Amino acid sequence: MRVNLKSLGCRLNEAELETWAREFQDDGHRIVDDTDEADLLVFNSCAVTQDAVRKSRNLLRKACRANPGAKIVVSGCYASLNTEEAAALGVDLVIANTDKHRLVKIARERLSFPSMPAQATDPGESALFRLGRHRAFIKIQDGCRYRCTYCIVTVARGEERSRNPAKIVEEINRLHAQGIQEAVLTGVHLGGYGSDSGSTLTALIQTVLEQTAIPRLRLGSLEPWDIPESFVDLFDNPRLMPHLHLPLQSGSDTVLKRMARRCKTAEYRALVKRLRARVPDINLTTDVIAGFPGETESEWAETLAFVEAIGFGHIHVFSFSPRAGTAAAEMPSPVHGAIRKARSRTLHEVAERQKREFAARQLGRTLPVLWEGTRRTNGGDTLIFGYTPNYLKVGMPLSVEDGARLSYTISPAQLTVVADSGDYLRGQTALVP
Ligand code: SF4
Repeated sequence: MRVNLKSLGCRLNEAELETWAREFQDDGHRIVDDTDEADLLVFNSCAVTQDAVRKSRNLLRKACRANPGAKIVVSGCYASLNTEEAAALGVDLVIANTDKHRLVKIARERLSFPSMPAQATDPGESALFRLGRHRAFIKIQDGCRYRCTYCIVTVARGEERSRNPAKIVEEINRLHAQGIQEAVLTGVHLGGYGSDSGSTLTALIQTVLEQTAIPRLRLGSLEPWDIPESFVDLFDNPRLMPHLHLPLQSGSDTVLKRMARRCKTAEYRALVKRLRARVPDINLTTDVIAGFPGETESEWAETLAFVEAIGFGHIHVFSFSPRAGTAAAEMPSPVHGAIRKARSRTLHEVAERQKREFAARQLGRTLPVLWEGTRRTNGGDTLIFGYTPNYLKVGMPLSVEDGARLSYTISPAQLTVVADSGDYLRGQTALVP
């Protein structure tokens, strides 16, 4: 059978998609890029914002219209929170988040398609390569025990559940054997890993570094209150990438209180100081919400001042979007849409400047880059792009042929200049084979 897989939203959705792709392949089915030629469409939906819900619904409607002959399976947060609505769109199967680890099995049973091992697929071709991935997102846990007042994910994904460490190690070793050079540990609440099994994220990272040879281990988003003192010691191992995404959400303690966040600005500042003291070139990236209910001008000014004081390599700016089913959606004094927009714009400008400043501080350094693919820039250059350990995007002039040979490999590049777009750094190297 020809299977097409799509996901919207977070890295965890992508990690799940990669697992399903592998399972369908192991079942003898073929992963196809084109929805039109697919016999089965699998969609991992998202509900993190109202916009994501709209996109999920539209994508499903379009899929049902475009492929009347294909079977359609939907899972993910939109489908879990709106099961009947999703079913009424004409899909064949809705699988809730709590059952998504059994999606391939349930689909096989309920849609009665055959399992025909080792016949149809291209032997040995990694599902990830089929999906055009250069790093593997590895799901290590699901669910979250916290209730940040704006967050619908904790509602859609349920209680914390951790994967067995041996399974995680086995998966990373299998992907490395297929040529993958980087694994990214993902979850809903990464720091909650082991809360249901007597382990911890720190212990898991140590296990992965000891029992695998994957050259690069990266961490997905990590709540700032989940980083124990000993965590920084892990960075003594150069295979753990010096890049942490630590959602701040607001730089005002009174707003953080209304968000039910468990990290005050003083604690966040102390954590950043500790990390930078131990890992000088660490790239700290973050999420900030602009226009949270009740956010006054002075609270917003606190957020801007705090962001200026910390300095981030990248900031994901979110304009507050009330999500039905969250406490924040019921909160008084919503901030007017135009003000929310204006605050987001201001923060985008700050984010752009800080990103360039962080990139500029790396100039002259020679760093190992995991090369991905070549692309023509607006300026007409053909460059190969890839990422440094501290997650800086690098572009290097290279022919398409040489690019194909360098793709999926790690080699050093000297960082020469920040591109005009500020989106990447230009690199040069003499190591083209
Ligand atoms: S810790 Fe993260 S996943 Fe959990 S409720 Fe808060 S924002 Fe949502």
